[in-house]
Amino acid sequence: MRFAAIPLLASLGGLAAVPLTPVAPPTSAELLGFTPASSQVERQWEAKFDALPNPARMRADMQHLSARPHNVGSPYDHENAEWLLQQFKDAGWDAHIERFEVLFPTPKERKLELVAPTQFTASLRETPVAGDPTSSQTDEQLPTYNAYSADGDVTGPLVYVNYGIPADYDSLARRGVSVKGAIVIARYGGSWRGIKPKVAAEHGAIGCIIYSDPRDDGYADGSVFPAGPMRPSQGVQRGSVADMPVYPGDPLTPGVGATKDAKRLSLKDAKTLTKIPVLPISYGDAQPFLSALTGPIAPESWRGGLPITYRLGPGAARVHLVVKSNWDIKPIYDVIGTMRGSTAPDEWVVRGNHHDAWVNGADDPIAGQVALLEEMRALGTLAKQGWKPKRTIIYAAWDGEEPGLLGSTEWAETHADELAKHAVAYLNSDTNGRGYLGIEGSHVLERFINGVARDITDPETGVSAERRLRARRIASTSGTARTEARTRRDLHIGALGSGSDYTAFLQHLGIPSVNLGYGGEDEGGVYHSIYDDFYWYTHFSDTSFVYGRALAQTAGTAVMRLADADVLPYDYTDLAETVQRYVSELQTLATNEADEATERNMELRDSTFTVINDPHDPLLPPPAEATVPHLEFAALQNAADSLTRASRRYDAAFARAIEGGGASFSAANAQLIHSEHLLTSDAGLPNRSWFKHLLYAPGYYTGYGVKTIPGVREAIEQHEWSLANQQIERVAAALNAEAALVDEVAGTLSR
Ligand SMILES: [Zn+2]
Repeated sequence: MRFAAIPLLASLGGLAAVPLTPVAPPTSAELLGFTPASSQVERQWEAKFDALPNPARMRADMQHLSARPHNVGSPYDHENAEWLLQQFKDAGWDAHIERFEVLFPTPKERKLELVAPTQFTASLRETPVAGDPTSSQTDEQLPTYNAYSADGDVTGPLVYVNYGIPADYDSLARRGVSVKGAIVIARYGGSWRGIKPKVAAEHGAIGCIIYSDPRDDGYADGSVFPAGPMRPSQGVQRGSVADMPVYPGDPLTPGVGATKDAKRLSLKDAKTLTKIPVLPISYGDAQPFLSALTGPIAPESWRGGLPITYRLGPGAARVHLVVKSNWDIKPIYDVIGTMRGSTAPDEWVVRGNHHDAWVNGADDPIAGQVALLEEMRALGTLAKQGWKPKRTIIYAAWDGEEPGLLGSTEWAETHADELAKHAVAYLNSDTNGRGYLGIEGSHVLERFINGVARDITDPETGVSAERRLRARRIASTSGTARTEARTRRDLHIGALGSGSDYTAFLQHLGIPSVNLGYGGEDEGGVYHSIYDDFYWYTHFSDTSFVYGRALAQTAGTAVMRLADADVLPYDYTDLAETVQRYVSELQTLATNEADEATERNMELRDSTFTVINDPHDPLLPPPAEATVPHLEFAALQNAADSLTRASRRYDAAFARAIEGGGASFSAANAQLIHSEHLLTSDAGLPNRSWFKHLLYAPGYYTGYGVKTIPGVREAIEQHEWSLANQQIERVAAALNAEAALVDEVAGTLSR
């Protein structure tokens, strides 16, 4: 995830003109969940920790870990795991490798050619770049492909489908363009890439090509590699196209760990493989295909940065696409290090970042992995100096993230029962670069992680990471969002969709999770290509590794606080506020859908579409809509109100207990540990029972992007009204149970 860059001076200028109202209490040295005395002790250890992460060592570690391609199944992937294990052991951790056996297809045959009206064969190759030493390691590089594409050999007319999301097919239909029996060409962006072949197949397409348009991460944004950081004409984005919104992890072992003897589905029964063959290409390869299209001109927002007229097709252009894979089972190696807690060893804080890459992967994932390593070493050093975390800390370097969150998902599924009982939080990172702290996660941790961000110094400006993020929000928003950025105690954190290793912990097991990373001032276009390497990173991203150090300080501080807090630092006021906001968003969404359906039907009846039609660029009228009923939101509103009231009682009891100290803390923790789990449902979401969280899920048709209160929201979006009402009941019941627990803990803390 990358933020749009905002010039630094503009945001600081905004601050100078309007002084920031003091909303956060940096006046108090007390940490959330700590008594005054234990806050002091904690701060002393944190000061020691803060000084330890070392940018020079991060640079050296990145050079080592990204020295060769290290995709799943490669020799260097295994070598890296063994090397990482040794780093854990050297730092004094109790560490081991946990191995799983996963389905990991690799290319056997790939072919893409234009067969009419002219002949062109795509190169499907990224060329080495002079001066970038690892780009020439062609023997070890995985060819450009999309993992978990179906095998196929298809020929058909070509149609351009923009991002290939459902709304794009509605537009095509109004222009009279069908993709039935066609091969579609979609550009990257707008959704998780696996959505593109899924939606294409739902509309009857027989093949799917995905290309990187230069408007999105190529020359439209800056100089291309090696002159600059952006995607060169031959750069290809590899990546998985598994249907991860159904379930991530090994396609053959949904819901259970992919251990050696696990029961496996046969290939034909694996639900997450694509139905049609898919292949990614560069914009160099894409241009001849897109130029060959005839038919209607593409809508303005669909046009990319190539020097051509973007058309939709179909026309005379015919394409031949062949994709065949070796469907092998490959080993993956998770490196797991444990530091046992002193007084609450059965409460676990889990921290992870993946180590596998598509190729050399300096940014994705080594930039995050080297920060994790420095945290791990620093905590090891503190332990040698006498620091004894109350809770158990588990550090994990995951394998197999790129193909489908394999290492984290299989580990979480294998240890599901223990994790559900013991895990108090999961902290994730992945890529890292220059810029602003990005925070997304469970809203019970919103207040906690804001507190951490207030205590981390931004390396470029010297202000806190939280102050910098707040200034940027003030400078870049308006209305309520800006008022809140100025005055709300805690900055809102985004909800988690999917796209990295927190997914199994949060969405399958209901463990409070946070994803952290710096970025936004590090534009680049080498994602999942051979050019994401040490040369690129040390020329164009966090070249001095000071943001690597900031990430280590941020995540490490969060781990320490979670491990040492007297009372688990969950906060229900921010959660309740967030739930209230989601509920009112859903009501607005339902009202808008009803209004739009009424309006559309009226315009169909009075022939508006026919009267405005331009016969030279004709648009068919959209289909009529069924009448939208009123939904029964009362149960959800009442449950949200109960949670709000409970959160207030909890806040008061929490404050008194922290002042009074002691007796009730461990009983309260034993109750609190289940609170996020109450926001899940064993039955899971409609059509995808693996996803159990009722507040957060990746969108069924967006993939990375989160859908909040997804059962209700997606039912409204899909116009499944009785399902929406059922889901409202289910979410209301979970929120009522949550409110009851929060009340109960308030009682415990008042004893
Ligand atoms: Zn990654």
